[in-house]
This record gives sequence, C-alpha cells and structure tokens, in this order.
Amino acid sequence: MGKQNVPDLFGSNVFDDRVMRARLSAEVYDSLRKTIDEDVKLNEDVAEAVATEMRNWAVEKGATHFTHWFQPLTGVTAEKHDSFIAPSPDGGVIMEFSGKELIKGEPDASSFPSGGLRATFEARGYTAWDPTSYAFIKDHTLCIPTAFCSYSGDALDKKTPLLRSMQALSKQAKRILKLFGVDVKNVRTSVGPEQEYFLIDEKMFNERPDLVYTGRTLFGAMPPKGQELDDHYFGVIKPRVIAFMEDLNEELWKLGILAKTEHNEVAPAQHELAPIFSTTNVATDNNQLTMEIMQKVARKHGLVCLLHEKPFAGVNGSGKHNNWSMATDTGVNLLSPGATPHENAQFLLFLCAVIKAVDEYQDLLRLSVATAGNDHRLGANEAPPAIISVFLGDELSGILDAIKNDAPYQGKEREVLKLGVHSLPRFSRDTTDRNRTSPFAFTGNKFEFRSLGSSNSIACCNIMLNAAVAESLKQFADKLEGAKDFEGELHKLIKETITAHERILFNGNGYSDEWVKEATEKRGLSNLKTTPDAMPHLLDKKNVEMLTSHKVFTETELTSRCEIMLENYCKTVNIEGHTMVDMVRKNYLPAIESYLHRLAQTTSLMKSVSSNVKCNYEISTMERLSELTDYILERVKDLEKALEDIAGIEDVRKKSEAIRDDLIPKMEHLRKHVDEAEMLSSEDCWPFPSYGKLLFSVY
Ligand code: ADP
Ligand code: MG
Repeated sequence: MGKQNVPDLFGSNVFDDRVMRARLSAEVYDSLRKTIDEDVKLNEDVAEAVATEMRNWAVEKGATHFTHWFQPLTGVTAEKHDSFIAPSPDGGVIMEFSGKELIKGEPDASSFPSGGLRATFEARGYTAWDPTSYAFIKDHTLCIPTAFCSYSGDALDKKTPLLRSMQALSKQAKRILKLFGVDVKNVRTSVGPEQEYFLIDEKMFNERPDLVYTGRTLFGAMPPKGQELDDHYFGVIKPRVIAFMEDLNEELWKLGILAKTEHNEVAPAQHELAPIFSTTNVATDNNQLTMEIMQKVARKHGLVCLLHEKPFAGVNGSGKHNNWSMATDTGVNLLSPGATPHENAQFLLFLCAVIKAVDEYQDLLRLSVATAGNDHRLGANEAPPAIISVFLGDELSGILDAIKNDAPYQGKEREVLKLGVHSLPRFSRDTTDRNRTSPFAFTGNKFEFRSLGSSNSIACCNIMLNAAVAESLKQFADKLEGAKDFEGELHKLIKETITAHERILFNGNGYSDEWVKEATEKRGLSNLKTTPDAMPHLLDKKNVEMLTSHKVFTETELTSRCEIMLENYCKTVNIEGHTMVDMVRKNYLPAIESYLHRLAQTTSLMKSVSSNVKCNYEISTMERLSELTDYILERVKDLEKALEDIAGIEDVRKKSEAIRDDLIPKMEHLRKHVDEAEMLSSEDCWPFPSYGKLLFSVY
C-alpha cells in the first residue's frame, strides 16, 4: 500500500462524521450532533433516518449483516449477527434495517456474567445504541456500538458506567469552568492507551497447552539469554513483525483507529502500539477492537499475539498505559498549564482535583486494574507497585510546595505566588526524568496511569478516575460557588488541598523497598497486593456513596461487579491449576521417565561393555531426576488436593482468598521442580518448546 492511499483508507469502514455529514439531511445531522455533543435525547424520526442511511452505506460496502456490538463484563466484546434480509412479496429478499433495530436489540444474553443481577430464566437483557461512538464494518457486518442493560435498567456492561462517569465529570467540570467565566457545551475526558503485547510463532504456541488454555506459560526454565542486554528495546524490528505491523495498521486505519507508533519493547518478542488519543468511550471501543484485530492479523502471519500480562516468568510482562486528560468541546486541555494568571489558577484547580481524587480513591484505582494476570506484574519490579501514588516531577512539585508554604518559588521571580494575580513560573515538561516507576505520572498536559494490565479493558479505570475527579470537582464547586472573594477562596482551597493530599505525591523510585515501607508505615497509603485484597474495597461505604451519588453505579450493580470480578479471578487461576496437573501427569512425568529409562539403559549397557566406565554423568543425572519425579508427584498431589478443597468453597470471597494463600503457592512450588528437571533433561525428550525457542524464533 502506497503512502498516498492512507488518507483514503483511513476510516473507510466507519460511519463517521464525514459520512454522516455527506449522507444525512442537514436537519437529521444537526439533531444527531446535538445528541452526540450535548447528551440531548434522540428522537425516533432521526433514528429512522440514520438507520436507513447507515444500512445503505453498509450494503454499498458489501455488508450483509448487522450486530449490536457490546462489552459485557467478561472483558471481551460480544456480538450476535443478524442479516439485513427480509422477504419481499415477489419471493426475493430486500435489505432492511429499521430505526428500532438501530436503537435497541435483544440478544439472548443469559450466559453473560451478571453477578446475580439477572436470573437466567429472565434472560433478556437489551442493548442500546451509543450514538457517541461511530458504527463500523467488520467482516461484512455493520457493528453498532451499544450499551448492554438488564430490563430493570441495571448495567451489565462496561460502556454504560463509563458513559455515566463521563457525564458526571462533564457536569461538575462545567460548574467549575463557569466560575472562571468559561461557558462550554461539555467537558470530555480523553484517553490514549499504549498497548503492549508479545508475538510468538503459532506452531509453537499450539504445542503448549498452557498457552492455549491460559494464555501464559505455566512452566519453563529461563533461557541463557533474557532481556539483560536491552538489545530488544527500540531495536530493529524483524521482517515478519514488520509485515504484521503493516497489515495491522492498515486494518486499524480502515476502522478509523489512529494507530500511530509502534516499537519493540524491553522483553524479547515484546512490542507496543500507541494510538493518538480520543474521547474516552471511543478510545475504549477502539482499544477493544485493536486487541481483537491484533490477534486476528497475527494468525494471518503464522503468529500468535499474546495479550496476557505475564506470558513468561522471569521476563517483563505487558501493561497498558492510560494517558488521560480532560478537554472542553472548544478544544482546551484542562490539564495544560496556561499562559495567563487566570488560566494558571484554573489549571492548578483541575490538577488539585486529580490529586485529591487519586488520594481519596486509591483503592478504586487499584482495584480497577486487578485481575489474576495483572497480579503477576504489580510490585514485581517491572511495573509500578500496587501502591498508588502521583508523580508530578520536581518543578511542578516545587510550585505546589511554594503555594502550600506561602514561600517564594525558587524560579526567576522569587516572589510569593498569588493565584489569579501572578503567572506560574514556566516549567518544562519532565522529559529527562520519565520516572517509569510511578503508577500515576503527570506528563506535561495529561496524566499517565500505568498500572493497567495489557488485557484489561480501559473502561474500568476510566470509570473510577472520571467518577473520583467528578467528586473532587463537585466539592470544589460547592465551596467556590457563591464565594464573596473568589480569588481568595480559590487560593485557600488549592492550599488546603495540597496540604491534605501531599502524602500521595511521590517523585522517587517506586520500585524500592524503602518506598513500600514509607508509603505504608509513614504515609498510610494502601498496598493492596492482589485481586482478593483489592476487589472487596469496591463495596467500602465511602466508595459506594461516591459512585452512587454521581449515578455511575447503583449499589446492586456494584455488588454484582465485585462478585463477577472475584469469580473471574477464581476461574482463571483454577483453569491454570488444572492445566498444570494435566501437563505434569500427561506430559512432564512421562517425559522425564523416558529420559530416565534412556539413562538407565545407557548406564547398564556401558557397564556391561566395560567395567572401567564410571557413568558419573548418567548416574548423577538419573539420581537427581528420579528424586525430582518423586517431588513432582508429591507436589502435583498437593495441587490436586488444593483444587478439590477450593472447588468446595461456595463464598467467592473466601474462595479467592484460598486461591491466593493455598493454590498459587502450590502451583509455584510444583513449577520449580519441573523447571529444574527441564534443565537436566535432553531437549529431544522434553515435551514442549522451551522459553528460548518461544522467545527468539520469530524473524
Ligand atoms: P510518550 O508517553 O511515549 O512520551 P506521548 O506523550 O506522545 O508519548 O503520548 C502517549 C500517548 O498519550 C499517546 O497515545 C497520545 O496520543 C496520548 N496523549 C497525548 N495527549 C493526550 C491528552 N491530552 N489526553 C489523552 N491522551 C493524550
Ligand atoms: Mg507513555
């Protein structure tokens, strides 16, 4: 594909603004725009007109089916295809699609997790069109982004609360902006998610049941070479990978996804893709699609794209960075420091709102990224710790300190900063100190939340972030509205906020043991290490109150979500445990046994030929391997027992704790012995491709 074709290609499979403007009548277009920009309710005639044009466009593009595309709580996307065809009186068919079908769908969705929200006999949840995210064509199917709810109105998906959280933030941010004399239609949060992934050979993937069943390796000794040379990071991209990336970009561009940068990551076989940022719900839809398309395109190239957070022990795992900001519909980034004193004060207030939100709702941010997969990364010296803190960089921290202490800022001016009167000292974007160890870093005009796992839906953390910031802004607006001396009150509020929440600010090394000690003992920050530790905090009183008061969740929805997330954790680890048992009994033990047989036969044969041979190698290897097989047998029995015990626990919270405390340590113990046996055995006896082969064979 030549470069000149990119603009033509871009968005060619999307019913986007360009298409709508060109195909809809001015009246219909304006009315739809109002719905998109100002959350005005859509009327039926408009829906009918949009549906007709959407169908005409899709059929012209070769689509035969349509689907309501939604994001149930499984974390992946769901779709049920219906064809456009309807019988015509002459015995043929016509292509039909009504406004009703556009707006509402009724998938038989009884098998999606609902955490008790919807009994299976009452299976009919419904999907509702989200006009703020464009429809697109994928595999001859018109995909309509939708929210998914139960008939009682409870959200059964990730999009609904995300949209609610965006509305909550917009409402409160508009109140604040009004105080600064700024009147806007809406404030939207924007997100650019950076996506990490591994690419490995498809044939080798298929040979490993652990990868096939669980997406990660459950066994495997370290190869002689890992990532110590740092020769992969930003290194030359291999031809097969380039071919994959080119194909991927093309597919993503067709879907209007702004895939922008791609490079090799730290670990061998690891890569990253970053899009240009967009509105949060569009970014969320696009990230889900990106993950799906990555996996599809990889298969076309004989590769498999691993999105698991920790596919290989001892090698860096994959995360996702959620770059987040807030902007007005007029295009002003509210986290961008301004040029005038007035703009600066506004910037500082929004900055403080985020700091306060992150401090008060650390637990919500932490649990929003908690999954069995991500538990392997957080706090493991490759990703930020499970402790949430905010990095501002030295310069901005200096400014906040000066405000807090009424002290002169150490800049040129050397005078006490008075908000609304003085300009902020110019500070540069911290490009040198990128502090990769901070979970939540200010990077000049946005915050980067870095604790997400590579397979996480970005909806979850953005729901929490938007809601928590909405709460800060609400409290600020309540204080400032009606203040007699606005500037004085504003200064006081910013000062108070910095003082109250400075414990969350940390510019140092988040990977160090000292930080863990300081954060938990001195600062009282929470350190929720695993999913079973973190998830139950979703139901803490303060969290339920905040999330329900902004109408982001109902209490029932929260209860069900907590249960679903814990259930998901339990099922994931449970499958891993069973896979380990299976691999050990069916493959590893028999493989070691046949190697032992070979060693024993060789030894006795050699000894029968000559009484001078010692067979030290054969005998010592045999002795250790035989010892290991006994250990492995004991450990696999332990694991089987643990799996059985856990199956008997009804309460999901207790079950998750037993998995954390009993099952996972037993899995690790078993693995250790098997990996040692791998190092002692002949490669031709080993039943699965080694780490070395998996990580270094794609060229
Ligand atoms: P890096 O983090 O590698 O320095 P950038 O800062 O250019 O790279 O951007 C990283 C991601 O942040 C990109 O996806 C980019 O589009 C996104 N981003 C940039 N500005 C914003 C913003 N205002 N809101 C949300 N995301 C943004
Ligand atoms: Mg980044």
